[in-house]
Amino acid sequence: MTTSLDPDDWDAVRAEGHRMLDDMLDHLQGLRGQPVWRPIPQAVRDSFHEPPPAGPTPLGDIHRDFLTRILPYGSGNLHPGFMGWVQGAGTPYGMLAEMLAAGLNANLGGRDHVPIAVEREVAGWMRDLMGFPGTAGGQFVTGASMANFIGVILARTRALGAASRRSGLQARPERLTAYASPGAHACVARAMEMAGLGTDHLRLVDVDEDHRVDPRAMAEAISRDRARGLTPFLIVGNAGTVDVGAVDPLDALAELAAAEGCWFHVDGAYGALGVVAPTVAPMLRGIERADSVAFDFHKWGQVPYDAGFILVRDEAESYAAFSQVPAYLSRESRGLAAGAWWPCDTGPDLSRGFRALKTWFTLRAVGANALGEMIDRSCALARELGDMVAAEPELELLAPVQLNIVCFRYRCAEPDRVNPHIVADLQEAGLVAPSLTRVNGHAAIRAALFNHRTERSDIETLVAQVLEFGRQAVQAEAAE
Ligand SMILES: *Cc1c(COP(=O)(O)O)cnc(C)c1O
Repeated sequence: MTTSLDPDDWDAVRAEGHRMLDDMLDHLQGLRGQPVWRPIPQAVRDSFHEPPPAGPTPLGDIHRDFLTRILPYGSGNLHPGFMGWVQGAGTPYGMLAEMLAAGLNANLGGRDHVPIAVEREVAGWMRDLMGFPGTAGGQFVTGASMANFIGVILARTRALGAASRRSGLQARPERLTAYASPGAHACVARAMEMAGLGTDHLRLVDVDEDHRVDPRAMAEAISRDRARGLTPFLIVGNAGTVDVGAVDPLDALAELAAAEGCWFHVDGAYGALGVVAPTVAPMLRGIERADSVAFDFHKWGQVPYDAGFILVRDEAESYAAFSQVPAYLSRESRGLAAGAWWPCDTGPDLSRGFRALKTWFTLRAVGANALGEMIDRSCALARELGDMVAAEPELELLAPVQLNIVCFRYRCAEPDRVNPHIVADLQEAGLVAPSLTRVNGHAAIRAALFNHRTERSDIETLVAQVLEFGRQAVQAEAAE
């Protein structure tokens, strides 16, 4: 009698596993023949209310459920017509690596095993690509939301000293203030909340007509706060804002942060990987001066979810903010408990998966050059889409195209009412799926071109369908 959960019949599991692999590769190969997204039938929704499974279900049955009830009803981010939000499309290499990582079931909190060296190598690649010094370190986290939170914690620890880890904020007289553009992602505000600093202490300063933050306005906000006895501690720059794709003047912000003694954090969630793209890299000048950069491999990097990363200029500051060595995690000079870098010393997680492997596979299988070309091509496609919109009298561009995001709308008497309908119509039609946002307070159709599979024909479809659904919506209103 054994309590092992391994199969009795390994051959059957092997055969089923091979079928799963073939099914999934077929799915990826045939994406274009599928709708981007389809509405979920009520019967499918209702089928997910079963009681907890007490006994075993044959693997083949579970696999069949996956094929019929899960696979067809994804959010569509694999599909070439997907251009909603900021999402990556994945690759077969990343998928295979994820399977290998799950097979290894490595825990990357620490200890002496090679998976840690793989994560270290990826961190080293990013240090070099971003132009960071040898003191830099970094690690995988869920996503840029978590990485931005860590950036705020690092900045707070530098401002208040490591002793503040004991006293907390309760014993401190300072009131710390941070500075960013109104285009900063909402997770930056949440990071201020979670760090106990409060969003009242996040100053959103003016931007120029390209939605880039104005460093002079930021400098003025900082000196106003100093005059009131507050303690400016953090400047957040955007390398690609989530709504319109603006890149803040990072060099000028680095200068300001140095002059003001503030931590300089860059939210480069998708844009920071532009360092490998010839046309984007020059826009990112100054990123190499940041104290920390948050970014995601799962967006423009096309690594399967999730694969966020925090890169820190001086790893000693990560240790100062996070390390603690309880007896059950004590380090030895030999054996399995040895190893120089325990990621649990430089970030908030203890148990951590092997996100590095799918990233290592993807970067090696594709190569930084091809990744950079793909990033450049999505920016070129966005410029083409911007030109198509500008040339079409019924359409209107709502923000300048700076990277790979195009915000526009169908012109009509009530654009804020009609454009949300157009976006939903497009998504339900299933050929292309942009998302909806607001630019300067107005509803905008947002095409965010992150998907490596998107081609010129997809943006042509987008324009044609926006015109078609826009005209239909206006006619329907007139008929009422
Ligand atoms: C996507 C995004 C985030 C949040 O990243 P997650 O990986 O979704 O947590 C933060 N900032 C910007 C600019 C983003 O585009």
